[in-house]
Amino acid sequence: MPKIKAEKKSRVHNEVAKQGIMFNKDYGQHILKNPMVITSMIEKSALRPTDTVLEIGPGTGNMTVRLLENVKKVVACEIDNRLVAELQKRVQGTHLQSKLQIEIGDVLKKELPFFNVCVANVPYQISSPLVFKLLLHRPFFRCAVLMFQREFAQRLVAKPGDKLYCRLSVNTQLLARVDMLMKVGKNNFRPPPKVESSVVRIEPRNPPPPIPYTEWDGLTRIAFTRKNKTLGSAFKQTSVLATLDKNFKLHCSLHNKDIPADFNIKEKIEEILVKAESAEKRARTMDLDDFMTLLHAFNSEGIHFS
Ligand code: SAH
Repeated sequence: MPKIKAEKKSRVHNEVAKQGIMFNKDYGQHILKNPMVITSMIEKSALRPTDTVLEIGPGTGNMTVRLLENVKKVVACEIDNRLVAELQKRVQGTHLQSKLQIEIGDVLKKELPFFNVCVANVPYQISSPLVFKLLLHRPFFRCAVLMFQREFAQRLVAKPGDKLYCRLSVNTQLLARVDMLMKVGKNNFRPPPKVESSVVRIEPRNPPPPIPYTEWDGLTRIAFTRKNKTLGSAFKQTSVLATLDKNFKLHCSLHNKDIPADFNIKEKIEEILVKAESAEKRARTMDLDDFMTLLHAFNSEGIHFS
């Protein structure tokens, strides 16, 4: 044990000596050091000289300076003050300085600025909330080219029947077209992360599908709780039935409708599932249209998920 500790310590020390900064694992700090990966990500973003780009977690600015050379403005959101100082130092006195706006703080807690395109090697621990923050942001952006942990990227693009198909896949694909762009190995980063990475392109569907997102999210949450189960059994869980019963009664009172005297949530749901020929379906094989049809079947009978 003591030996491992000592090795770890000296590795950290080397990093500090080389870079002058100790990278903070809690902030997912893995600096992209291969300029070819940065070039490819920028190419795939199809930037225009008039664009405003949002970068999340610029770190020491390897990507930022390259973006600044290609567009009108970069808004970079960084949580770590030490890295903000590094980045400022890097552009100070250059022609790039006036194009860079730095937002200090946690991107998840801030209101996003206006941007046309988002390009980033993001901190992996905020991947999921970040994707939805971007997709629910208005006005629409053109596209986002983002580096994620490979398995997360595979979930984003997974299709019905794929091993990694999940709620993240359907929720993202409802709101956007998602493409896998390239694989990026650990050794392109310093320090190398434990996991492999991949770059994806996310293009919001504009106009968005005419579906209330909170309803959709509520339905897919139930359907994917155990994605190999049939919907018939997923909807038999007591907690699910209790929530849907509460929602039904709330919606009735909001719309001044009487609750039928013989109302039984369990029977109602079974009836809807059977009518929609969905009781035997399993979430892992259902595509976007299947979920849309099902949501419509529920909502038109007054069953709501939010
Ligand atoms: N883009 C840089 C660094 C990527 S490392 C490069 O490719 O070299 C991830 C960066 O995100 C770090 O700079 C880290 O400090 C920052 N970060 C982590 N969590 C954040 C958050 N919640 N909001 C904004 N930035 C964050």
